[in-house]
Amino acid sequence: MSFRARLLLVMLLLTLGIQLVASWAVLSAVRSAALEQGKRELDVASGVAVALLEGWGQQLLRNVDLLVDDPRFLAAVDDVLVDTSSRLAAAGTLRQQAARMGADTLLLLDEAGHVMASSQPAAGSGVFVDSWRMPLTTDDAGVVSPSILNGLGYQLVQHPLPPGAGAARLALGFRLDESMASALSGLIGSQAHFDVSVSPNDVAPGQDHQGLSRRLSLYQGELGRIDIVVERSLETLLANYQDVKVSLATIFAVSLGLMLVAVVLIARGVSLPLLRLAGAAKSVGRGEPLDLKRMPRQGEFGLLSSTLLKMQGDLSRREEDMRTRARQDQLTGLGNRQCANEDIEAAIETGRPFTLLRLTINHMRRINDTFGHDFGDRVLSTLAQRLADLPAPKVGAYRLSGDEFLLLLTVARLEPLWLEDTLRGLTRELRLDDSPVSLKVAMGEARFPEHGDEANLLLRRAEIALDRARQLRQAHQCYQRGQDESHLRHLALVRDLQHAAYRGEFSLRYQPQVSALTGRVIGLEALLRWDHPQLGWIPPDEFIELAERSGQIHQLTHWVIDSACAQLASWRDMKLKIRLGINVSAMDLQQPGLIKRVESALDRYGLQGEQLCIELTESALMQSPEMGARKLQALRSMGVELAIDDYGTGYSSLAQLKRMPVQELKIDKSFIMQLIKGSDDDVIVSSTIELAHHLGLQVVAEGVEDQAVADHLAEQGCHVLQGFLIARPMGGEAMTEWLKEKGDVSLRDAANDHHR
Ligand code: C2E
Ligand code: CA
Ligand code: CA
Repeated sequence: MSFRARLLLVMLLLTLGIQLVASWAVLSAVRSAALEQGKRELDVASGVAVALLEGWGQQLLRNVDLLVDDPRFLAAVDDVLVDTSSRLAAAGTLRQQAARMGADTLLLLDEAGHVMASSQPAAGSGVFVDSWRMPLTTDDAGVVSPSILNGLGYQLVQHPLPPGAGAARLALGFRLDESMASALSGLIGSQAHFDVSVSPNDVAPGQDHQGLSRRLSLYQGELGRIDIVVERSLETLLANYQDVKVSLATIFAVSLGLMLVAVVLIARGVSLPLLRLAGAAKSVGRGEPLDLKRMPRQGEFGLLSSTLLKMQGDLSRREEDMRTRARQDQLTGLGNRQCANEDIEAAIETGRPFTLLRLTINHMRRINDTFGHDFGDRVLSTLAQRLADLPAPKVGAYRLSGDEFLLLLTVARLEPLWLEDTLRGLTRELRLDDSPVSLKVAMGEARFPEHGDEANLLLRRAEIALDRARQLRQAHQCYQRGQDESHLRHLALVRDLQHAAYRGEFSLRYQPQVSALTGRVIGLEALLRWDHPQLGWIPPDEFIELAERSGQIHQLTHWVIDSACAQLASWRDMKLKIRLGINVSAMDLQQPGLIKRVESALDRYGLQGEQLCIELTESALMQSPEMGARKLQALRSMGVELAIDDYGTGYSSLAQLKRMPVQELKIDKSFIMQLIKGSDDDVIVSSTIELAHHLGLQVVAEGVEDQAVADHLAEQGCHVLQGFLIARPMGGEAMTEWLKEKGDVSLRDAANDHHR
């Protein structure tokens, strides 16, 4: 049952109860008052009845007084008593006299009270009435008293007759019968009747059950008793009471109705605010706004309302807080990936063009490795601050993950000038703990709607552009159509790289290096090949960088070191002792295990250090010069040779490079392949060769494709040639054949050829 219904019920029952008790009290008071009143009236009425009877009797007595003085009456008495001849007529006269006075019977009595004559034939002698025996004084004016004759009740008036009248007394009797009773009733306003009993102690039963009654004894003696009973029916007594009852019932009904209305109103007054509050509480639960107009404002309900309001405020604040936190990056305070996604989706909704710029710090891993993660975090925070401080037209700056950031810009495309400025601003040198840190970032751009109309797609394409920028070592790239596919291919390659080594998909090709002067083979370079089960041959230019970026380069290099050494050992067993160059990437140099690995491989296959040449690009050498120098020194002390690969593509000076313990310089094939006498390239190449001579470095020219170039290089003093002109890279067995055919294999320094 609802609270409202219960409230209604309780209030109704309460009202009903009070009304009933009140009505009962009123009614019983009215009733007892009515009964009380009835009793008093009966007392009065019965008294009046007796007085009336008495009064009539006295009246009769006075009439009888007159009668007994009437000589005619006395003569008739005489006749009745004495004269037998006129007896009948005299009796008639007496009867007439009695009837005239309204008496029912007339008696003549002697001194002793015996009936001497009676107007009623049946009432002959022998009837004895005790009151008659009461001695009467002659001056007595007469007696009025009720009595019983022949079992009937009478009011008897006795009067002495004058002396000599023959009879002593005259008695006139009036029947106390129904008509007398009804005459009395009419006068006293209550029902009266006479109760006559011949046995004096007998009271007629069942007299009082109809209503209230009064019984007054008129006579009680030897002959029996006469009572007058005055009564009133309950109905008449309670007639007023019934009226009161009806009015009370009306009042009851009306007030109940009114009460019902009042109760409903009160219940509504109580329950409506409660219902509204309950509704409000539900709204709070559902996070809907509260309808303030519908909420109670006063009293306890008002208090509840304001509590609910406050609760909703707190809840929504907490929710808001959680929402912000869910959308915020904890470290930098920028929006996180989810926030970026939502904002991009919102920007797409508007339909206006915008640009995403994805950013990453190029050497974050190195910063973390070198300075620790706390320091790295501060670098990230600084960059985040710079991104956040960028001027319009920026919508938001976000941190997507680790060192990846995103800018959402409300421009259709990025202006080169803006990009330049921004880049300069972002990569400003920063000082942390008094140490200068240079920031290098790469950025990838994708535009809406040009490059996609979906947040995820745009984000991915910006990432592809970013990857591309990093690949090309540039600061910025914009997404170009078709890069998706190559990106997917890269993902597949990165995934499959991890299993390639133990699935035997890697192999080494070998390319010979020959003396520029004598053409003798002085070494080989090992070049890695990947035969992908689905994609076929993958060029190293494609997967080496992926391996570097996905952190798999070390396993790959380990595999190359082991395989190269294994091949060297097998050649040694064939009496082919040769020097083999292997390519090692910059990241390998930073890894602690490299030296151990080389050492143990040499050990395992029983090789000498000088059979191995490690090729490193100039940028790899220059990345951390001190640490690099130490490691190179360690390799050198094992006898391992070191070569600078791809020389000319970086910007390091030879003087700088010479501080490294290197023995060989490999001029990049881009200078050699189409070398034309007298060209700019030629100038660079010849001056490089000359400088290398001074520094005591052996010079190798890569990518020698035709004889003229080979001749020219030899003329310039280049020591070693490598390229398709001499041989293409080939597998181990083919290489063995090739070497055997050549027959002229030397481990000696090709520079010696020149000196000889
Ligand atoms: P690189 O170290 O400069 O290797 C020489 C590249 O030039 C080889 O390409 C070789 O096939 C090619 N080449 C040689 N002679 C000629 C020529 O006359 N004309 C032309 N056009 N090309 C010539 P490859 O094998 O595709 O290797 C490409 C690059 O992949 C290598 O450049 C090297 O940086 C990297 N790489 C190859 N193997 C490995 C490896 O085992 N480890 C590492 N870290 N990198 C490797
Ligand atoms: Ca190389
Ligand atoms: Ca090279």
